[in-house]
Amino acid sequence: MGRMNAPAHKETLLTVPVAPGMVACPSCDLLFDVGALRHGEKANCSRCGGFLTRVRDDGFEKVQSYAISGLVCLAIACVFPFLSFESAGLESVMTLPQTVQQLYDQGRPDLALLVAAFIIVIPTAVLVLLLALSNCMIRQTYYGWMPLVTRLLFHMQNWAMVEVFFIGVLVSLVKIAHMATVVIGISFWGYGAFALCFISAASNLDRLQYWNELERLRKLNHAG
Ligand SMILES: [Zn+2]
Repeated sequence: MGRMNAPAHKETLLTVPVAPGMVACPSCDLLFDVGALRHGEKANCSRCGGFLTRVRDDGFEKVQSYAISGLVCLAIACVFPFLSFESAGLESVMTLPQTVQQLYDQGRPDLALLVAAFIIVIPTAVLVLLLALSNCMIRQTYYGWMPLVTRLLFHMQNWAMVEVFFIGVLVSLVKIAHMATVVIGISFWGYGAFALCFISAASNLDRLQYWNELERLRKLNHAG
């Protein structure tokens, strides 16, 4: 009965803190008190080494800045030429929305829908929600829709495939380069910058700190 000595972790399925300052390791469920962490400090599990949380006083400001930059870069990526190909005297220029249009025109509306959702629609929605939520956090305002929208945001993050798409494009570029002259457009770099901003915005939002702050604002709102 070696399990008798296991650490107390009755509320193992909770992804929100079990008590103020307390958190269960997502990998091994060991409980930790991370309430004493200060700006710039990060906590890892002492048993399995898994990441627990990182405290940044300017975390929401960073999320906000990266989200705005990401949306600007995506707008650039959607307007300008993404790639142009030249082979046997024929040149074709393609923008990012046209790649989706091409799939649709070739009789693959299902694929066109998936590509549009994974590389443009969902990432845009994630950045807009990140921007809205971080804005509320910075202004210290609480609205009843925030917990629901936050859960939706964290769920959608799993379905944004910005970096997967960009790596896919790089791999196909290497293959196509043998067959045609490929010119990389402004939109290509725009999308690359968008991918970096997207990853930075998402990684600067510490989920534990976010939920703690949301809970604090909710209580403050109800008390006032
Ligand atoms: Zn652990």
